[in-house]
Amino acid sequence: MPADADTPYDVVVLGGGSGGYACALRAAELGLSVALVEKGKLGGTCLHNVCIPTKALLHAAEVADSAREGSRFGIKTTFESVDMSGVHAYKDGVVGRLYKGLQGLVSSRSIEFVQGTGRLGGPDTVDVDGRRITGRNVVLATGSYAKSLPGLEIGGRIMTSDEALTIDHVPARVVVLGGGVIGVEFASVFRSFGSEVTIVEALPRLVAAEDEAISTQLQRAFRKRGIAFRTGVRFAGARQEGDVVTVGLEGGSTIEADLLLVAVGRGPSTDGLGYEEAGVTVDRGLVPTDERLRTNVPNVYAVGDIVPGLQLAHRGFAQGIFVAEEIAGLSPAPVEDRGIPRVTYCDPEIASVGLTETQAREAYGEIETYEYNLGGNGKSQILQTQGFVKLVSEKDGPIVGVHMIGARMGEQVGEAQLIVNWDAFPADVAGLVHAHPTQNEALGEAHLALAGKPLHAHA
Ligand SMILES: Cc1cc2nc3c(=O)[nH]c(=O)nc-3n(C[C@H](O)[C@H](O)[C@H](O)COP(=O)(O)OP(=O)(O)OC[C@H]3O[C@@H](n4cnc5c(N)ncnc54)[C@H](O)[C@@H]3O)c2cc1C
Repeated sequence: MPADADTPYDVVVLGGGSGGYACALRAAELGLSVALVEKGKLGGTCLHNVCIPTKALLHAAEVADSAREGSRFGIKTTFESVDMSGVHAYKDGVVGRLYKGLQGLVSSRSIEFVQGTGRLGGPDTVDVDGRRITGRNVVLATGSYAKSLPGLEIGGRIMTSDEALTIDHVPARVVVLGGGVIGVEFASVFRSFGSEVTIVEALPRLVAAEDEAISTQLQRAFRKRGIAFRTGVRFAGARQEGDVVTVGLEGGSTIEADLLLVAVGRGPSTDGLGYEEAGVTVDRGLVPTDERLRTNVPNVYAVGDIVPGLQLAHRGFAQGIFVAEEIAGLSPAPVEDRGIPRVTYCDPEIASVGLTETQAREAYGEIETYEYNLGGNGKSQILQTQGFVKLVSEKDGPIVGVHMIGARMGEQVGEAQLIVNWDAFPADVAGLVHAHPTQNEALGEAHLALAGKPLHAHA
């Protein structure tokens, strides 16, 4: 806290989500006085509405699949049904415990938590319900919201991830509009819960931001799981009548469903918050910054989903920490999107970091790639999962991209990001010993192969 009411805070953070609270915690740790303004719940979208609750749903979905598939492992199990109230109690319990822990952290670090809707009143001021809070530095961290398409109104049987998260029953037929990260995760959950699922995606493939080989493998796996998808086709409209929502596609075909889940991405929450009036440049809703996360207005920074680039919670955390350290004069290294790991938690799981094969070819011309099939990996065989680890390297150079798909592959992304961010050569990783039998060995074996000494790899 500042010495008196007239002294400005060192840092005022607007928005208490991943980016905002990480900035507040690190700034306080560094001895700065901090006010953190939040209109909803501390922890923001990630903790309360998306990352944590959706992953709890995905884990419940995995349990449902395990109950169905016991006989594959010689265990007699039967799947009875999904008790949505039980699923929500489990999910809410996880969120509740993390929320309590976070509240404790913020109060223990002497951060002033201001509950209310804030507005940038000037380059050094945030107005909250009639109170003016001034800061030597202001950090904008107001996050994002679930988007829809023009003319597609959310309501009734047409939902975004926000409403789908609290649905009290398992719908028999679901159409998921959007085959990106959010769409494929929800498709995976609903399928495991027993719904018939069809994904509609305008781009030619699911998870189009990933390496093409990953999309191909995911599509194969989804087909096997009975998840239908229509790619390269545009949505034309939706009509709700009685218990049915009819989804129209370009070309005239229709799909009937009990639920239409709109998963077409997130828009930045910057409208009406006084940013432009205070002189901050806003471009199509986003707040552009330089690599030190400074906006065009001195001492006003921006972090998280409102900054152009990857919309991921851990990017927000890293940016928040960066800004706190920058303000404290520690000159931290910038947070580069290229080195940020990405995980899509559908079944099978996707994990990647760095450049896709296409991007690497554009960047470096000559490159090398290697795909290690999980068929040669003992632990993946034990789990009965299929997939691969794909490496992309500069020709005779470092690894610039790692792309993985298969059960639990998200857990492998930690080593993958070290490899890419530390510019490791295949031979550097090939020299490291990976524990047996783990799925992590697949990452080691892929590097052994790319270094010219394959072990459990078929040509
Ligand atoms: C379905 C789904 C699943 C996802 N899963 C993952 C995942 O598994 N891993 C991952 O890394 N990312 C995931 N994401 C993305 C992740 O949730 C976001 O990148 C992250 O929440 C962004 O953090 P943020 O701090 O920028 O914004 P937010 O978390 O949105 O926080 C912004 C905060 O600002 C507050 N606020 C806004 N305006 C005001 C105002 N005027 N006054 C006061 N407070 C205000 C809001 O209430 C909110 O709490 C997922 C997204 C979706 C939609």
